[in-house]
Amino acid sequence: MTAKQIHNLFSKEFDVVGIIKTTEYNKVAKTLNRNKANAKYPTMAVLGFAYPKRIMKHTDTHLVPSFYTFGKDYHLVMKEKIQKICDTLKIKYDYGVDNHSLDERLAAKLSGIGFLGKNQLIINKDYGSYMFLGMVLLDTQIDNEIKYQIDDNCGVCRKCIEACPTNALIENGYVQEKCISHFNQTKKTLTKDEIKANYLLFGCDICQLVCPKNIRKGKTIHPEFELSDKEMVSIVDLFNMSQKEFNLKYSDMAYLWKGKTLLMRNTLTLLYNHNNTNFNELIKDSIDKYTMPWYKETAQFVLKKLNSMK
Ligand code: SF4
Ligand code: SF4
Repeated sequence: MTAKQIHNLFSKEFDVVGIIKTTEYNKVAKTLNRNKANAKYPTMAVLGFAYPKRIMKHTDTHLVPSFYTFGKDYHLVMKEKIQKICDTLKIKYDYGVDNHSLDERLAAKLSGIGFLGKNQLIINKDYGSYMFLGMVLLDTQIDNEIKYQIDDNCGVCRKCIEACPTNALIENGYVQEKCISHFNQTKKTLTKDEIKANYLLFGCDICQLVCPKNIRKGKTIHPEFELSDKEMVSIVDLFNMSQKEFNLKYSDMAYLWKGKTLLMRNTLTLLYNHNNTNFNELIKDSIDKYTMPWYKETAQFVLKKLNSMK
């Protein structure tokens, strides 16, 4: 197959498509000490799928996650699209969306579909950083690569570094443990500082929202990402429903992938930060019911504080 043919096929479903040779990726991955891709697949398609920027606000009863989770879970959406295309190719393939060992951002940079911003996100000229990434490995040789010219960078801008509330961003990198989006997706007992810093049910949007490269971006709404009424999560549902009931009601939402208890743990931080004592009884019951130490310890700390606010 030619690179052009592969590019055209993926372009029917994806907004941005780069086609590179796996050997090229592996050469750079090796120098950076990253995992190499399976060389039995000589070709790599690097995919970008745009998502919209939409802002919602917490209420006393419902909480909001990062807006990248709005609409159907992008893992499912991209997986379906990749399989649909690859099945027509009649060749062996492998793929990953987020949950794999390869470096999507490195592949995105090599294919030129965007540059790596100081906020550690790939920034594309048409979609800014509002773009999910995926990679497909194909068992076919290509004639040439399809790369884009990157003629943009952050320059002297430092807006994301200055806006990051936990100082996770530094001039040339990122301290993962300090990032809200990292720790609010990690099953751990939160520290007092982490509890105070957390402001969403899941994820963090600040370094995308302040980025000037995102001005007038985030307008593309693919049908899969239309709002589904499941974007805001009921606090009562979180505490009263079983995992099974909750998964059924909030099915296909990206914030589900770490489970309901993690969302409950994050809810505690928001109740604390909003001085919302309306759910103290439910928190108390949950401490007896949920055995994970990281949940119990965070809940005990927060409940004590909330009780003292009454
Ligand atoms: S996601 Fe939030 S905490 Fe993480 S680097 Fe960006 S602004 Fe900082
Ligand atoms: S806010 Fe500025 S420094 Fe940060 S990623 Fe955007 S352009 Fe780069």
